[in-house]
Amino acid sequence: MSKQKIYKLLIGTNNRGKLKEIKSLLPKKIKIHSTSEFNLKSPVENGKTFKENSLIKSKYFSKKTGLICLADDSGLEIDFLGKSPGIYSARWGGRHGDFNKAIRRVYRELNKKDKNWKKKKIKARFICALSISNLNKKIACVLGKVEGYISNEPKGKNGFGYDPIFIPLKKRKTFGEMEPSQKYKMDHRYQAFKKIRKFL
Ligand code: IMP
Repeated sequence: MSKQKIYKLLIGTNNRGKLKEIKSLLPKKIKIHSTSEFNLKSPVENGKTFKENSLIKSKYFSKKTGLICLADDSGLEIDFLGKSPGIYSARWGGRHGDFNKAIRRVYRELNKKDKNWKKKKIKARFICALSISNLNKKIACVLGKVEGYISNEPKGKNGFGYDPIFIPLKKRKTFGEMEPSQKYKMDHRYQAFKKIRKFL
């Protein structure tokens, strides 16, 4: 096993759903700090990929605080919509990050593309890039995914974001209907975490 190298870590996200999930994955030995302690705004995410945006965040928050930072960039790709919303997943929720608005947009775009889309299996996946940076230096950057499809209607009140419309492969429930502990064990963030935990 690799030796514990990091004892103090900032989680570089202002999204409470992600913060809760990432905290639950980290070893208890690590002292966790969140961006709210420092009252920091998020940086402009002008990367072209999930990995680039994740690194923009981990470097930015590390430089602002002097702490080593773990950040994620994640989103939903829907094949039928040419992989949209992809890196724009958060932006589909508008300026106030309204997840219902983002979900309504998904259904609007699907309807625009094909009125009968509900008769098809709409393949989709959640993607997560996790990175660790120390100031401007990248320590690690990995990608995790979970495949699934879009539910014909939103279901469930758990989770955040697109959870109510995403059904992982071989399951019947949406992420929004699952207990958080069940979702956390299979999702994109967990898949990425398995690859990055050796750096912690
Ligand atoms: P960002 O990584 O902060 O740019 O935002 C990613 C966006 O993707 C979130 O605001 C959610 O809308 C969506 N997203 C990412 N991960 C999840 C998840 O686990 N469940 C539901 N939506 C997610």
